[in-house]
Amino acid sequence: MSADACRLTVDLDALAANHAALKLEAGAAEVAPVVKADAYGLGAEAVSGRLWAEGARRFFVARLVEGERLRRQLGAARPAVIYVLDGCTEGAAARLLAADLIPVLNSAEQIGCWQAAGQRPSTLMLDTGLHRLGLNPEEAAAFAASAPAVDLVMSHLACADQPNHPMNRQQRDRFLALAALYPTAKRSLAASDGLFLGQGFAFDMVRTGICLYGGGPEGRPDPRIRPVVTFEAPILQVRTLQPGDVAGYGAAFTAEREMQVAVAAAGYADGVLRAAFPRAYGSVAGRPAPVIGRISMDLTLFDVTGCPDAHPGAMIEIIGPNAPIDRVAHEAGTIAYELLTRLGARTPRTYLGLAPAGAA
Ligand SMILES: *Cc1c(COP(=O)(O)O)cnc(C)c1O
Repeated sequence: MSADACRLTVDLDALAANHAALKLEAGAAEVAPVVKADAYGLGAEAVSGRLWAEGARRFFVARLVEGERLRRQLGAARPAVIYVLDGCTEGAAARLLAADLIPVLNSAEQIGCWQAAGQRPSTLMLDTGLHRLGLNPEEAAAFAASAPAVDLVMSHLACADQPNHPMNRQQRDRFLALAALYPTAKRSLAASDGLFLGQGFAFDMVRTGICLYGGGPEGRPDPRIRPVVTFEAPILQVRTLQPGDVAGYGAAFTAEREMQVAVAAAGYADGVLRAAFPRAYGSVAGRPAPVIGRISMDLTLFDVTGCPDAHPGAMIEIIGPNAPIDRVAHEAGTIAYELLTRLGARTPRTYLGLAPAGAA
């Protein structure tokens, strides 16, 4: 089969398998998928539809608009609980209510904003040391004294990708102390990496993103987590370089020997991170093909010397089972989260295992 465009394939069966693996790890705790940033670039509609079919009933997004869109996408037949991590920002209350979204309240100011709309604060973010969003300990204590009937309190770990980091225990201890101010509330501390720190971190609910989408705990490929995304680019041309020939912008690469170079139709506008040169490599029919020269907007060059399958129309795997997202991200000096959210601006997604529309 020959192809003339990039292919971005999202394997929803693998997503479902990862969801099951996380549920196993979580024990009695609920696994609540985080589908912010269009489900990390995989498509929130397809992802949340499949996860609903797998039994997920609570979802997290970051922005109000993401919540509104997710509510429309799930529709009346799938009445999920949707939390908005940004919380109740100025003027947001009416829209949160209209779309039946739950703001995760991050400050005394946000609590006031939600109460001013006649609403009971139900869900709080408590800051336990990340110093990003969340009530500080004084605010948490003051609010508990006035209105302790809260449904869910949560916090977020700073260093969960480093199991031995002292902050993990420290934040857990602080979370226990602050959560005790709200004795009837359910508790949630862990995201993906936190879940793998052990049962002492799972509490009542884990908010998982990256491990659903194929990223391993600690930013490393992990046998428990299946790859979900495959990104392939077609080879447009194969050419021969002689020793001393340069390739790509800035003449940043010089051939030291005769070599075969494939020009593939994907560049940084498609999510091939420019910082990936000089460390990255793709895969042609399972054989490694190092990236050579600077990645340009539409094109990337690969060394395919000794790859008999490299010919115009053949596909180079840039992300996938042979090029795991954690490894590819690392080669570009970043993390799987950033890699995934930069895919798909120009490439339509193909889904495997799509849930039937409106499936309950
Ligand atoms: C993004 C986010 C998550 C999900 O994190 P993963 O590491 O992708 O599992 C959970 N909680 C909060 C507050 C977040 O911002």
